Amino acid sequence: MNQQEPKDLDHFLGDLRRALKAQERYLLNVLFQLQFPELEGGLEPGFDRGDADSFAQWLSDKYVDQINESVFFRRLLIQQEQLTLLATQQLDKAQAGELDSAGYATFLRAVQRFNELADQLRTDVTSSLIELDELTGLFNRNVMDRDLTEELEHSQRSERSFAVAMLDIDHFKKVNDTHGHAFGDQILVQLAEAMEESLRPYDRVYRYGGEEFLILLQDTRIKSAEKVLERLRETIGSHKMGNDDLKIEVTVSMGVADSSQFESVQDLVETADKALYKAKENGRNRVEVA
Ligand code: GH3
Ligand code: MG
Ligand code: MG
Repeated sequence: MNQQEPKDLDHFLGDLRRALKAQERYLLNVLFQLQFPELEGGLEPGFDRGDADSFAQWLSDKYVDQINESVFFRRLLIQQEQLTLLATQQLDKAQAGELDSAGYATFLRAVQRFNELADQLRTDVTSSLIELDELTGLFNRNVMDRDLTEELEHSQRSERSFAVAMLDIDHFKKVNDTHGHAFGDQILVQLAEAMEESLRPYDRVYRYGGEEFLILLQDTRIKSAEKVLERLRETIGSHKMGNDDLKIEVTVSMGVADSSQFESVQDLVETADKALYKAKENGRNRVEVA
């Protein structure tokens, strides 16, 4: 992967992380269904056998050049395909009450092989570049600056606009003060996961600093941006976060701005930040449009 632009690798690594997580969720659901084939659905409501494919497909469409260049990437995608095939076969057998130990073992070994390949690919990429936030695994601010500059230039040349949101956790200082900094860190990690899971694959989240995040909603008009963010806000507020010993409710405030009104990245981000400030003033746990 060494001939790639660093910027491309940033995105690749972030996208790969998400793809692997989606794959992991899929496999857990499969394992659950193999144990309890008589139950409707998997571990999570709405589990669909096809879930594994869509993201892998997206990843491979977007990174065709990298696939050709990296033997690890190529192997990983092939293995993913085989794994899905084996999973489907096993699920069918389980439903017919015909699950056998040899087939099941083959499936588990394929899972193991997939994980090995994923590890190799990750090592291959990270060794050439580390520009992800260490705590959350989100893109860091360097990547954010580059992306925003590029997006703004692009949108000025075309008719397209995008939206930028600043997100800040409500009363986070109190979380740290009450439960400790390490617990606060766990919340940050889980919040990052929740954001990536509920946003669309082409949206991007960056750790802006501390407990503040910037969300870039590509090719999105402000009205739909508001809807996407409102949904995100609700999702975050309705899932408790923490660990086995303690779970708390976390709410966030957001301010969002429309790129079409701005000439510079700085103005755009500052305006989103002002809207965030307004969201705080107006009672928190809300989205304000600039
Ligand atoms: P508000 O609703 O107005 O945003 O209140 P707040 O308490 O969240 O606001 P403030 O900006 O005063 O506090 C942010 C806190 O976030 C302060 C700091 O202790 C905490 N924080 C920043 N970065 C980290 C981090 O990496 N880990 C942890 N655990 N806490 C962090
Ligand atoms: Mg803050
Ligand atoms: Mg805060």
